[in-house]
Amino acid sequence: MMRFDIMTLFPALVETVLGESIIGRAQKNGAITVRTHQIRDYTEDKHRRVDDTPYGGGKGMLMMAPPIFNCYTDILRQQQAEGLEELRRHVIYLSPAGRVLNQKLAEELAGSYNNLILLCGHYEGVDRRIVDEIVDEEISIGDFVLTGGEIPACILTDCVARLVPGVLSDAECYEKESLTSGLLEYPQYTRPYEYHGMRVPDVLLSGHHANIEAWREEQARRLTAERRPDLLNHT
Ligand code: SAM
Repeated sequence: MMRFDIMTLFPALVETVLGESIIGRAQKNGAITVRTHQIRDYTEDKHRRVDDTPYGGGKGMLMMAPPIFNCYTDILRQQQAEGLEELRRHVIYLSPAGRVLNQKLAEELAGSYNNLILLCGHYEGVDRRIVDEIVDEEISIGDFVLTGGEIPACILTDCVARLVPGVLSDAECYEKESLTSGLLEYPQYTRPYEYHGMRVPDVLLSGHHANIEAWREEQARRLTAERRPDLLNHT
């Protein structure tokens, strides 16, 4: 079981994305738990403000530390009330300045923790002091800047969750897939046999499992050499 606690100003966005398809089903069958927490509910300001201008000047607004801290401590309190004090927790701030997410990092997170607490920034980001105080690690989903941490949080949750036992129906689904094996995945085909004049490679209809495996391995290596030669040095 893996529990995700997501601190955000836009919980509906996260719930919509993670409530559908495989991740939605995994929540229903109890393989994972996803809880969203509205940071605005924890503001100490009578106007429910969660952001302010940065000290020293500059454009945009920064999310203030106190509402995030209050939200975080309430998550710990809620977990305690549910009898979950012993969780292996890891607090992550989704940030373009963080370690870049890849399959290896997702495997590391899925293997080391059973509670990821994710902080989604917005506007110009968050007051540095909250990161220094509660965050274990900053993670980026790539070298580009988005308007908020919600989509990155959904991406991180999706790729970690699908490694949790019980989320996918068959472990085979991810063991041979792109990047998990260290290679990009071989091409796959389904019916019809002939589509717009293109036929499924004969070997896949041969029923000869060793030949099929060898063909797939060769295709995976060829594709990886062509598109991502950097990956080959690690296999
Ligand atoms: N001023 C910040 C900086 O230069 O690092 C960027 C803030 S960004 C506009 C707003 C929020 O979006 C961030 O606080 C972060 O949570 C999220 N975000 C944007 N790009 C991201 C990325 N590549 N990976 C993860 N989170 C990202």
